[in-house]
Amino acid sequence: MKKNVVLLGPPGAGKGTLAQRLASELGYLHLSTGDVLRDEVARGTELGRLAKEYMDKGELVPDEVILSMVKEHVGDRRGVLFDGFPRTLAQAEGLAGIAPVDVVVYLEIGRDEVVRRLSARRVCPKCGAVYNLVTQPPKEDERCDRCGEALVQRRDDTPEVISRRFEVYLRDSAPLVKYYEEKGILVRVDAARSPEEVLADVLRALRNDCP
Ligand code: ADP
Ligand code: ZN
Repeated sequence: MKKNVVLLGPPGAGKGTLAQRLASELGYLHLSTGDVLRDEVARGTELGRLAKEYMDKGELVPDEVILSMVKEHVGDRRGVLFDGFPRTLAQAEGLAGIAPVDVVVYLEIGRDEVVRRLSARRVCPKCGAVYNLVTQPPKEDERCDRCGEALVQRRDDTPEVISRRFEVYLRDSAPLVKYYEEKGILVRVDAARSPEEVLADVLRALRNDCP
């Protein structure tokens, strides 16, 4: 049976990259609240206009907004990879009423490595592919390998906003580690390694029945 998996960890831990690979490996749905919000922003919807105020500052979008958005995307599916959600205890409690969580993968990484990674992150505005100028550079100078589009930096990947996002993570999201540990479903993974090594560890953990 497909599992519902939460990917937990600070910004820059590699949740998005890991989720993309896991989703294609396992045939799961990758649900990134950050990606959904960025899409709303790009389409200029009411939700997008509201979310942008928070995102540009590195603050969290209000829990009620996030919860109704997640509920709509999940429906009664199984096999969902939650990326960037839940981010607060209130969201975790809300999620429990939307879908059962089977495993929580905690991507452990230090602050310095996070800042290094996010400063070098570039994304394709057209297809969403993610690069890192240091560790995963595109073949051609700052252009997307898949579609040729010029890569850009995310609006919230500036040094000031990165450091704010990290503080918000420590304050609001880090308590989730203990919350899920007490439920006995947390798996710790060292995220300061290559995407391939992290993926292999996580696949191994998901195949074991007890984490
Ligand atoms: P990262 O994990 O790299 O910080 P995300 O793409 O997950 O980036 O999120 C970007 C921004 O979107 C966050 O800083 C926040 O403003 C908003 N956001 C995403 N997910 C949530 C969530 N679950 N709750 C509140 N805000 C969120
Ligand atoms: Zn592209």
